[in-house]
Amino acid sequence: MPTPLIERYGEHLSLEAGDPVVTLNEGSTPLIHSPRLSERVGAEVHLKFEGANPTGSFKDRGMTVAVSRAKGRGAEAVICASTGNTAASAAAYAARAGLRGAVIVPEGKIAVGKLAQALMHGARVIALQGNFDQALTIVRALAESHPIELVNSVNRYRIEGQKTAAYEVCDELGEAPDALAIPVGNAGNVTAYWAGFQDRGASPVLYGFQAEGAAPLVEGHPIDQPETIASAIRIGNPARWEEAMNAFTASRGRVAAVSDQQILDAYRLLASSEGLFCEPASAASVAGLLAHGLPVAEGSEPPGSVVCVLTGHGLKDPDTALGKAPPVIGCEVDLAAVEKAVFD
Ligand SMILES: *Cc1c(COP(=O)(O)O)cnc(C)c1O
Repeated sequence: MPTPLIERYGEHLSLEAGDPVVTLNEGSTPLIHSPRLSERVGAEVHLKFEGANPTGSFKDRGMTVAVSRAKGRGAEAVICASTGNTAASAAAYAARAGLRGAVIVPEGKIAVGKLAQALMHGARVIALQGNFDQALTIVRALAESHPIELVNSVNRYRIEGQKTAAYEVCDELGEAPDALAIPVGNAGNVTAYWAGFQDRGASPVLYGFQAEGAAPLVEGHPIDQPETIASAIRIGNPARWEEAMNAFTASRGRVAAVSDQQILDAYRLLASSEGLFCEPASAASVAGLLAHGLPVAEGSEPPGSVVCVLTGHGLKDPDTALGKAPPVIGCEVDLAAVEKAVFD
């Protein structure tokens, strides 16, 4: 059974002595070697399957720390804006902590599994007739004028918790990888990985990938109406913009865009030839490697090892999966008919 993050890595997290540990035994997720991708990319590729966290995404790593601190300082409620996974995670940890939860999501724009999670965990779910960036602006204002804890990745404890994924990668490989490929939305996670690697004295090349229709960091300006099938990274004005860009620069890495088609191709490839079902946004890391390779700054060696972060579970978004999958084959109760259906 995984040990709670706060027990494994507590000395690197700045919780106060009296804070309770609100945990669902998150973290300790599988790091899976991929011979096929290694062959295609020309480096040893490992996949960090964050869908194995309790609510199905890496958000749990940050949420255990943020909600423990919120509870420790006497908060009665937590709030977030979310493209879905932060809402699911905040709702679960709030339930666990006995706190009220409120989540603001862009109306009609979040995957159905995430919505089901937030509702089942008892959060108040508000569907905003706008996008994620507008929702974040509103919750920031609410948190300033009400005794409610904001648990978006602007919360430093979220970043602290999420940096433990970098520790796990280093611990499992026995050293830091030469490069890390990661989807980028609000840019909290790439900021967190970089902080985690820096804590270990490592500086892997960071490759960040945004969806073409939601690529503010690539284009160098906010996007008013971000659009992509990868709803978890449908963000036009990342809160951690500067920190992420500094991390890309310091690591001699880069941020690039991938098309929805490239994302969906990688999404299907991972499911059908690796046995790993991640959500579309997660597949952006692999799509990016396949589309852009492993570019390096002049005078640097090409990376020999790369870790791709698969940020969330494919079950979150059954609509996208079923919409892109081959049809189910109907069959009558008849041996010959079934034989034909199976073998033809
Ligand atoms: C939140 C999320 C991202 C983006 O992470 P940021 O910290 O916002 O950059 C990517 N994929 C999934 C599945 C997510 O839930």
